[in-house]
Parts: sequence; C-alpha cells; structure tokens
Amino acid sequence: MIARRQPPRGRFAPTPSGHLHLGNAATALLAWLQIRSAGGTFILRMEDLDTPRCKPEYSAAIPDDLRWLGLDWDEGPDKDGPCGPYAQSKRTALYERALDRLREDGKLYPCYCSRADLLSAASAPHGVASEGGAYPGTCRRLSPEERRERERRKMPSLRFAMPEREFRFSDGVAGPQSFPPGAGGDFVVKRADGIFGYQLAVVVDDIAMGITDVFRGWDLLDSTPRQLALYSALSAGPPRFAHGPLLLGPDGSRLSKRHGAVTLAALREQGVKPERLVGLLAWLTGAAERPDPVRPRELADAFSLKRIPREAVRLPDNWRQMLDGA
Ligand code: GLU
Repeated sequence: MIARRQPPRGRFAPTPSGHLHLGNAATALLAWLQIRSAGGTFILRMEDLDTPRCKPEYSAAIPDDLRWLGLDWDEGPDKDGPCGPYAQSKRTALYERALDRLREDGKLYPCYCSRADLLSAASAPHGVASEGGAYPGTCRRLSPEERRERERRKMPSLRFAMPEREFRFSDGVAGPQSFPPGAGGDFVVKRADGIFGYQLAVVVDDIAMGITDVFRGWDLLDSTPRQLALYSALSAGPPRFAHGPLLLGPDGSRLSKRHGAVTLAALREQGVKPERLVGLLAWLTGAAERPDPVRPRELADAFSLKRIPREAVRLPDNWRQMLDGA
C-alpha cells in the first residue's frame, strides 16, 4: 500500500502592529508557495494579542496588501473555516485552557521580576536577543514565604519552566539545529497585564489549526526550541519548521524607513505593480531565477525550500528603480 501524505496546512501569521513591509511580504510569499506548491491549505491568522501595539487599521490593511500581492488563503479572519476564529484576540479561551493544563502539570510559576529588572520585553516574538537575554530563573527558586511576600506587592507574570534538555530539529531551510539545555530560559506565557505570550498562543493555535508546516522569518529560529518544549508539554507532535532569510536594506542594516518606502502600503500608493514586487522578492529569495515581473501562482510549480538562501539577503542598491515600470 502506498502511504499517502496528508496535504500540508500552513499559515502566515502577521502581527498587526504596523503595515506589512518587504520582509513580511517575502515571508508571506514563500510560506504561500510552500503550501500551494504541495496542494495544501493556507491559513491567514492575525496575531493581535498585544492590544496596546496592535491596531485594527493594520488588521484591516494586511489582508488587502496580501491580496494585492496575489496571495490567497482558504481560512482567515475574513473567510471562516473549521478552526476559527482566525484572530488571536478572539481565541483567548483556548490559551487559558492550555495554561490550566500546564499549571496542573506543575510547568508554570509566577514571576515578580519587573521589566526594568530584566531589561526584558518578555512576550516579544522576536527571539532571545530581543528579549534581553535568557531569564536567570530568579522566581523559579523562590521559597513559599518569599512568593507570598512578593505577591502582596505585585501582580505576577507566569513563566514556563524550560526542561533541562537539548532541543534538536531539522529546519527546512537552515538545516540541522541543536539548542543547549535551557536555551532562551524560562519564558513568559502570560504577562502581568493579562496578555498571553507569543510562544504560548502560536503553539496552541498551530496545534488547534492542524498546521503541518511553519514557514516564518529567521528572527524566530531561536523561538523554536521553546515552542518544541510547549508542544511536548501539551502532548502534541510538532510541525515541520522552516525559517526564511531576513531582508536587509542595501547597507546591511534592518529594513526601516531610512531605506525609503518599505511598506506595501507605501509602494502601492506610489503605483508599484505587484508583479514587479513579487518578481524582486522571488529573485532575492531563490524562488525565481530572474527579477522579472511575475504572479505568485506562476512560481508554485518550480518552488523548492532548497533554493532559499540560508543567510540574510540585502536589497540591491537600485531596488526601488527595479520596481518601476508596467
Ligand atoms: N506573529 C509573528 C510575527 O509577526 C509570527 C509568528 C510565527 O510565524 O510563528 O513575527
């Protein structure tokens, strides 16, 4: 009997704290190509938990920008499906249930350290570096008296206690990965202000949505061991992971306003044609041999993760001129 592989389920999961920029567009394109080239189901999920940072106008603009690029999805905030709702702000009951389970299993502990103490934005999705270093475990070791004493002064956040073991996985782009025990440290699953942490929400949703293939940006590679620890704590098998290259400005620095109009919204407004942008992004990320205008669906047949570069990609000096023309 021939074992038939289930069609893959993948997703693009933007945080609506700003307009999509070229880097997000490259990630969305590659995630879409990976799934469409295999005849799978593609999901759009809005990761809008951090309410102070996320804005409804961005949640509204993102699907528009993606459609303009030529991408589509089978399930999403505007297209209900079996795993909805597709915005994290509407899924908090699921996160609470997962927390109950982790709490019952003794995998969480309250943390009273302040942000200033730690120089840490603990729920920021962008990996260890941006979280100000691994949490030193201060509150994991508190005695019951110390805990009671701190409780009187401060609402705690909740941290997941990372198991003391190595995490290994094979990344579809980056290749074999291994992270030493404790990599990244114990991380926040619920902030003191009640907002659920990125790692928890993303894993709970990827499990509930039956995601088989996660494709996202390189900046989240070092989140993967923490997510693997959560999969295991929630008794779920992990998906396949692939991390695509970050897109940098021509000077090699992180893409920003300094590099000109780098959001899709701004480029659209300047009259750039989506086929030109897709052509440039596909060429830079190994999905096309030349930077010629093209539609995403024309790239699906030849798509392979193997051709995606393993290091950050710089925009060429003349990237903006390359986008001009019909
Ligand atoms: N929401 C995350 C971000 O915008 C991506 C989450 C993921 O793909 O795992 O960076």
